[in-house]
This record gives sequence, C-alpha cells and structure tokens, in this order.
Amino acid sequence: MGGIFILSAPSGTGKSTVAGKLLQQVEGLRRVVTATTREPRPGERDGVDYIFMSREEFERGIKEGRFLEYAEVYGNYYGTLRDQVERNIKENVDSLLVIDVQGAFRVKEVFPEAVSVFLLPPSLEELKRRMIARGYRDSNAEVRLEMAKKEIPCARFFDYVIINDFVDKAVDQLRSIILASRCERGKVFRNLKSFMIGDDILSLLEGGECYVKKA
Ligand code: ADP
Ligand code: 5GP
Repeated sequence: MGGIFILSAPSGTGKSTVAGKLLQQVEGLRRVVTATTREPRPGERDGVDYIFMSREEFERGIKEGRFLEYAEVYGNYYGTLRDQVERNIKENVDSLLVIDVQGAFRVKEVFPEAVSVFLLPPSLEELKRRMIARGYRDSNAEVRLEMAKKEIPCARFFDYVIINDFVDKAVDQLRSIILASRCERGKVFRNLKSFMIGDDILSLLEGGECYVKKA
C-alpha cells in the first residue's frame, strides 16, 4: 500500500466516471483531488471533484513547490498537490491520480514505481458524442478532439491500456490491475510486516531457502 496509480486519457473518455465507480469497489484507494483554475461545472463540488483556485493562488502554489506536477490544459492550470500524495503514503493508502498525459509522464519521473493506465475511447466519434453529452462550457469539443489525436499515441508509454467501451468492464479491468499490482513480489517482500501472516511464514520468507533454486 502507499502506491500510486495514474489514470490518464483524453478529456471526455470517461476517466472520472470510471474512477468514481472504482473507488466504491477498492478498499485502501483514495483519489487525489486535483487543484484547478477552471470554473466549476454544474454539480461539481469544491474539494470533492476539484479544488478550485484562483490563478494567483495556483501560481503562488507553484512558486512554493506545492505541486507534484502541474500542467496548463485548455488555458487553465491543473495540478496534483504534493501533500495529498505524501499523506496517503504515510497512511499506507494507495493514491489514484486522474490526470492528463503530461502530468502522467511527470509523476512517472518522480515516482518510477507508479503504475500508469491509459484509458482509450472506443472511437473518436464516440469520444465526441461523450464530450457533447457532458456539455462542455469551458472549451469546445473540436479543440479537445484535436488534442485527443495527439494524446492517444502516448498510450504506448503507459504500463496498461484499457478500452472504455463499457464502464463496468473498464472498472473491472482497472480494479484487476490494482489488485494484481498490490501482489507484485517486490512490493510484498518490501512490506512483509504489514501482511496478515504468521511469524513462522514470515521467517521462512525472510530467511528460508528455496529448495529448487538458490538465491
Ligand atoms: P473524463 O473524466 O475523461 O473527462 P467523464 O467521466 O466526465 O470523462 O465522461 C464523459 C462523458 O462520457 C460523461 O457524460 C459520461 O457519463 C460518459 N461516459 C463515460 N464512460 C462511458 C462509457 N463507457 N460509455 C458511455 N458513456 C460513457
Ligand atoms: P476537465 O476540465 O475536463 O475536468 O479536465 C481537463 C483535463 O485536465 C483532463 O485531460 C484531465 O485529465 C486533466 N487533469 C485533471 N486533473 C489533472 C491534474 O491533477 N494534473 C494534470 N496534469 N492534468 C489534470
């Protein structure tokens, strides 16, 4: 636990929808709430969907080094607050970062062990339909669609790629990635003491010898 999972995709693909359902299903996973200078959309709550900041406040945060990463997307700043991620690591809770491609690359630089997942729309036509369905006020669908054509090729640099054709399927796949990642040998051996295993098993894992292969 205390790991970082990055969910990235072109705007409108369904990141927030998938992340919302995922968080209801996976224990020990907390969404890191992005700070942004964009206007809230109807229904969005400060501190829950985004932390809404003025441009001055955000720029002060940049100067003070409060952001793990930040990017200017469609004329507004978006950024991940360092203290939220640090708190999750301290509390042994995994962090879910729902961020754009620039941010994903930056976080991977800082935390190479972070697991990155790229969510793909099934087609550009469907992506446009989703954008329109959500009713953007701050930027038109055409601009975001052009951006999506530049973002989609970045998928080849991610650890995992999921197609969001059906929400429940995408959520199942993402959940599987997270659960599997928590069982990675390196992570397990680094955190043996946090697992519910007896001292006898613990000492065999730490000090025993494999009878087939030598270390
Ligand atoms: P993002 O966070 O990537 O910008 P959203 O989660 O806001 O995208 O989703 C954009 C729109 O697409 C929303 O109206 C949402 O209900 C819809 N949507 C998301 N996933 C799917 C899906 N698999 N099938 C159909 N519509 C979807
Ligand atoms: P929207 O305004 O549609 O909610 O988001 C616009 C874009 O900002 C999306 O592509 C989204 O991934 C990106 N974004 C959201 N949060 C962050 C963040 O914390 N950091 C970065 N770099 N991008 C983000």
